Amino acid sequence: TTDTRELQRRDSAHYMHPFTDTKALSAQGARIVVRGEGVHIWDSEGNQIIDGMSGLWCVNMGYGRHELIQAATKQLRELPFYNSFFNTSVVPAIELAGLLAEVTPPGFEHFFFTNSGSEGNDTILRMVRRYWDIEGKPKKKTIIGRKNGYHGSTVAGASLGGMSYMHEQGDLPIPGIAHIEQPYAFTLGRGKAPEDFGREAAGWLEAKILELGAENVAAFIGEPVQGAGGVIIPPPGYWQEIERICRKYDILLISDEVICGFGRLGRWFGCEYFGFKPDLMTFAKGVTSGYQPLGGVAVGERVASALIGRGSDFNHGFTYSGHPVACAVAVANIRLMQREGIVERVAEDTGPYLRKRFLELGDHPLVAEPQTCGMTAGLVLVRSKSHNEYAPFDAEDGVGMVCRRHCFEGGIIMRAVGDRMIIAPPLVMSHAEIDLMCGRIRGALDRTADELRR
Ligand code: PLP
Repeated sequence: TTDTRELQRRDSAHYMHPFTDTKALSAQGARIVVRGEGVHIWDSEGNQIIDGMSGLWCVNMGYGRHELIQAATKQLRELPFYNSFFNTSVVPAIELAGLLAEVTPPGFEHFFFTNSGSEGNDTILRMVRRYWDIEGKPKKKTIIGRKNGYHGSTVAGASLGGMSYMHEQGDLPIPGIAHIEQPYAFTLGRGKAPEDFGREAAGWLEAKILELGAENVAAFIGEPVQGAGGVIIPPPGYWQEIERICRKYDILLISDEVICGFGRLGRWFGCEYFGFKPDLMTFAKGVTSGYQPLGGVAVGERVASALIGRGSDFNHGFTYSGHPVACAVAVANIRLMQREGIVERVAEDTGPYLRKRFLELGDHPLVAEPQTCGMTAGLVLVRSKSHNEYAPFDAEDGVGMVCRRHCFEGGIIMRAVGDRMIIAPPLVMSHAEIDLMCGRIRGALDRTADELRR
């Protein structure tokens, strides 16, 4: 319609988008999303679309939740802003920190707030180095991340992350950051027993530590399940072995829980799902279900006792650290999650049901190795398959983008990561909505196959 066209014209004239291919954008015009309710969004043309990605992995409790809207408006009226600098504090931040102490694993009693996951990881980089200074080991500076890991878009976040297409811009990573391979069984673990591959992949960390010298290594950071890297579910034993290696060489273990935290895997935090105990956790996204920007760092006993007890000064903070409105929404969101028992529901009901339906897509000729973990899932698009042998597409085929377009047009948002197609739908999705979603994905796969045959 004319409205949409006018919005698109102004969009491409003035709005510089994050992570967008601007050539493609100005050729096609943006799809403008105007409304959300439950697990659905609507665009400016009136199309109703299932949001298979929860926005950007964040709208976990779905759209239109009155409890969250009310919490925001109440706090806006009472006190829209005050800061926690210089020994002041605000009630919603106090409440949120207390509530987080309840829902995080034992050993986490202290919480630092930021606006985003990226800033959470920037904060962690400074915290970790400050920690080793206080401990009298200032040489321990290097943080090891993983290829295709995603830890945000700030200078430190993008450096810790292992996205080469981000490193290429802006001279990244910054010094003092190293990377190891991701534990991607589909390519690197072919023909190996999963447990063997888990041990092997964790062993890459030990090799890197020995190469750099343990006396120079401060921490290892990883997402329990790599999200933006393509929903890479680690092999069994991987995280236990990573934890063992970190302890052996006295290296802090950081779990980036920005996606996995707050119920995505059917536990409050991803580290609980995989059974390891990090020293620090980054969180964001699901903490507010995306209704307000908020992130932060859960600081475990070891680092907290140094930073708060012995160090006492940590010269770091953002104007909006502990923003009252964002914190009030987070408190309401966590209480809503508790009231609805959403984490248990993902573990016992919705997660297993998504697995059942999503794995059925494995009989599609284009699909290899569909996998799920809680309420996230991924599959690989392949040119052909027989038994466990797959012929991959060429990168130039851009098969992921073709499939993504067919999903979009078929009323389901899926994300493409190379030849992987991934979803992370709202945790509140019903069985009927899972059926509808998987049906639309199958339709999009059929149309993708048709287009590629032509
Ligand atoms: N860490 C992980 C695991 C993420 O997935 C993301 C964002 O997708 C970030 C950090 C960055 O968070 P933000 O975009 O809020 O800065």
